[in-house]
Amino acid sequence: MRVLVISDIHANLVALETVLADAAGSYDAVWCLGDLVGYGPNPNECVELVRGLPGLICLVGNHDKAVLGEIDLNVFNGDARSAIAWSQSVITPGTLEYLRALPARDQHGDYTLAHGSPRQPVWEYILDRFIAQDNFALFTTPYCLVGHTHMPILYRQTGPHGEAQEESADYHSARSLRGERVIINPGSVGQPRDNNPDAAYAVLDTAGDLWEFRRVPYDIFATQSRMRAAHLPERLAARLGFGW
Ligand code: ZN
Repeated sequence: MRVLVISDIHANLVALETVLADAAGSYDAVWCLGDLVGYGPNPNECVELVRGLPGLICLVGNHDKAVLGEIDLNVFNGDARSAIAWSQSVITPGTLEYLRALPARDQHGDYTLAHGSPRQPVWEYILDRFIAQDNFALFTTPYCLVGHTHMPILYRQTGPHGEAQEESADYHSARSLRGERVIINPGSVGQPRDNNPDAAYAVLDTAGDLWEFRRVPYDIFATQSRMRAAHLPERLAARLGFGW
């Protein structure tokens, strides 16, 4: 099975549509690692589009839970909080109902899926190899896919106690995962934070355990215009142009 792996769409419909068009023909199923809403201008449209994708496994993220009212907004910074409050003002009952039913962690064959980490599926950021090390003991499959940091990266287990090495994303070339234990983050569709503003996603071939990181430029200005029209915080619009 060929899987399109996406995460952290954050209501950026233009980025999502661009990723789907770019990946067209290279996947039969979609795994979405959470944070469909928050920050961006099109929460309902993004959820509507994602829920119709083929072979979908979709997780809930911390921003989704915040929009659902399941997380205290005070844990977010001011701009994120404003965007969540705005999202709550436009989100439809149908969108909320869909988000509320999503799991925070799931498993498919050799792949464990979590928004943040196996240890704390909603909240923990796997930001370095030491945090990855702690998490290698907390899933039993060979492979684990996470989102949440908005940074494309691969952590490879190198020792019996979860010792891990980081491997930066090598785009548009497939890497075999066979014989290894890895934690991989495909990066963010709708708000990349690795100083590269292009939308990030990945394609996985589960028959061969082949992983390919991908990037695609999208019309950032179109998303920014929608954000400004919605009076979302200017800083959130500006950051899309730089990828931070
Ligand atoms: Zn996110």
